[in-house]
Formats: sequence, structure tokens, C-alpha cells
Amino acid sequence: EDEELYCQGCGAKIQTEDPDKAGYTPKSSLNNEEVLCRRCFRLKHYNEIQDVDMDESDFLDMVSSIQEKDGLVVHIIDIFDVNGSLIHGLTRIVGNHPIILVGNKVDLLPKSTNKQKLKQWLRTTVNDYGIKVKDVFLVSSVKGDGIDELADALDMYRNNKDVYVVGATNVGKSTFINRLIKDSTGIKDVITTSYFPGTTLGFIKIALDENSYMVDTPGIVNKQQMAHYVSAKDLKIIHPKKEIKQRVYQLHSGQTLFFGGLARLDFVKGEKQSFICYFSNELPIHRTKLANADALYAKHVGEMLTPPDKQTLKNYPKLIKHAFRINGEKTDIVFPGLGWVSVLGNVTVEAYSPEGSNAVIRKSLI
Ligand code: GDP
Repeated sequence: EDEELYCQGCGAKIQTEDPDKAGYTPKSSLNNEEVLCRRCFRLKHYNEIQDVDMDESDFLDMVSSIQEKDGLVVHIIDIFDVNGSLIHGLTRIVGNHPIILVGNKVDLLPKSTNKQKLKQWLRTTVNDYGIKVKDVFLVSSVKGDGIDELADALDMYRNNKDVYVVGATNVGKSTFINRLIKDSTGIKDVITTSYFPGTTLGFIKIALDENSYMVDTPGIVNKQQMAHYVSAKDLKIIHPKKEIKQRVYQLHSGQTLFFGGLARLDFVKGEKQSFICYFSNELPIHRTKLANADALYAKHVGEMLTPPDKQTLKNYPKLIKHAFRINGEKTDIVFPGLGWVSVLGNVTVEAYSPEGSNAVIRKSLI
């Protein structure tokens, strides 16, 4: 029978089966004198912060340990995938801690985006989800935009208390924390990491001063995120790396747009108008007649209509249709994790997205 081992860094039970779960260690490292999980090993040797994935209930268990503590919660979301990265139950999960919302990856939005309006939009949106936030910031952890301002604000809001950084996987939490550590004078030279003793999941603590810490929590897995459905190659295509270029289509009713073969939008009823598309610049968009769309999809998905590539196709969920009537207000039709289409007029559309990742509409973000 296997002897039970625990990571000397974070206390997680060592396992060799699932690299994405807490305590993962390659079998070859088990004979080392000091047993560390891969996360702690990398942290120790490369100063690299790595997320352990967990679902909302694991997260709830973990965070219940901070509920009695005092501190500021920083919720990071991906501005390109607001619907997929907002943690809906956050207020319930973190209790009465004040929350700062950080929209990361702002470098992906067109330069012309009005940041003030976008912040206001975020405020309203999270409020609609029942999440009360003290303040909203827009940053690019990759480029560094907005980081200084945020660092100053965190110092003020945290009131000498700890800061807990929470977010879904892939929102850029590690990039953000590494950037903060790098940029913040005072933090840079005193960076130490330690762990809550006795917890079974790694919190990473980064000293802010003698008495308080920034605490990196494991990333919450949102099953709706596209990363669960597409191949690594396709993920590279659909996740934008650069500023998104708006692609504008003048459509008549009876026309269809395909986003690769991953999603589809039918313009069912309404006057001719512009459909402004916000997707990764590398994702091809095809325009066709609605009457031909089903046949085109059946014949060409995975080939002309790609991504999906062959591998993605093996487990990509079937496309489910959602009908929306839009009444004159500027509205986004959102395909979570893929992008969105903005329309202004009175139109009826049908949006197809993979089962489990529902298309939704929202007041326009831009
Ligand atoms: P985590 O899972 O939340 O820790 O996310 P990571 O820090 O690993 O980042 C996930 C992906 O988003 C990586 O490909 C990052 O390069 C990318 N990313 C992170 N921050 C930004 C940002 O500010 N802008 C852009 N364009 N990409 C970012």
C-alpha cells in the first residue's frame, strides 16, 4: 500500500495522477529527500506561480478559512470573457470582505474604447449579478497599463490588512501577481513566500509588509470556459493576443455569419444593418445565406469552417440555438470565450453556441 505523502511546501496530499489538481508530483520526484508538489517546486526553484484548478465548491471550502479573517478581496476577470470569468457567487463566498474588481487584458480591446464608460458598464454588470464592489479597475498585466494606479489603490483600500486575489483560471491571475511583484517597489526586494500551515490546498502568501500578505488563491474552474472544449491549437487561435480589430458586416435579414465553425449567428428579421464583430483577429468569419447555412456547416465544418480542427471536433458539443429580439438599444450578442457581435437596430437573431456555453445578450460593452 502507498505511504501517504504530503507536500512540504503547502501541505497538499501528494498525488501522481492529475497534473491539474493540487499536490501533483511527477513519479520521478517521489524519491527526492524533500517532497514538494510541482507547484511548490516551481515556485521554489523558478519563482513561478502556478495555479491549481478547483471548482466553486472546493473554492468555497478553502475560502471559508478566510471568512473569519480580515482583508480585501481582489477579483480579477478577463475583460474579453466577462461572462465566463465572473464568479457569480462571490459575495456569498467571501462574506463581508470588501471587493475590488479588476478587468484584466484591457489591451485586447480597440484603442478607441472609452475606459470610463467601460468601468461604469462593469460596475452595473457586477451589480446586476449581486456583487457589490468598492471600486473597478482596468489593467493589462502583460503591458502594465493601469498597474501603478491599481497598486496605489490597493494600498489604500486594504487598510494594512491582507489582500486575497481570486479569479477563474486563465483570467491572467499569475501574470497579474507576477507583474505586481515586479513593479511594486518595496515588494520587489522583500518577496518571501510561505504557506498557511495545515491547509490541504496551497495559498501562496507574498509579504506586503511585516504584518500583511497578498494571498494568491487557486483558480476557480468555470466549466463554461472554451478551454475545456477546444484543442490547444484552436485555443491559440480563438484567444486574442493583440488588440481586436472590429470586423463590420452590413447584413440583410436572411444572412448568416459563421465564426470559424465554432459558433453562428443568423439574422432572421429586421432592416439591413451593421453587425460589428469582436473576435480574435485570427478567427475567420464567413458570411453566407441563411438558407444555405445548415448544408454549408454539415459539409465544411472542420475544413473550410475552422477552427474547430479535427481534434476539437471529437468532443466539441453540438451547437444550440438561442433566439433574441433586440429593440433598438445597442446590444452585444455574446458567445462566451469566443467574442461578441454588437448590433443597434430592431432585429431578431438566432445565435448558435456549443451546448453548455450559452449565448447571451447584454447592453453593449463598447
Ligand atoms: P491564470 O490562469 O489566471 O493564472 O492566467 P495566466 O496568468 O496563466 O494567463 C492566461 C493567459 O492570458 C496567458 O496566455 C497570458 O499570457 C494571457 N494574459 C494574461 N494577462 C494578460 C493581459 O493583460 N493581456 C493579454 N492580452 N493577455 C494576458
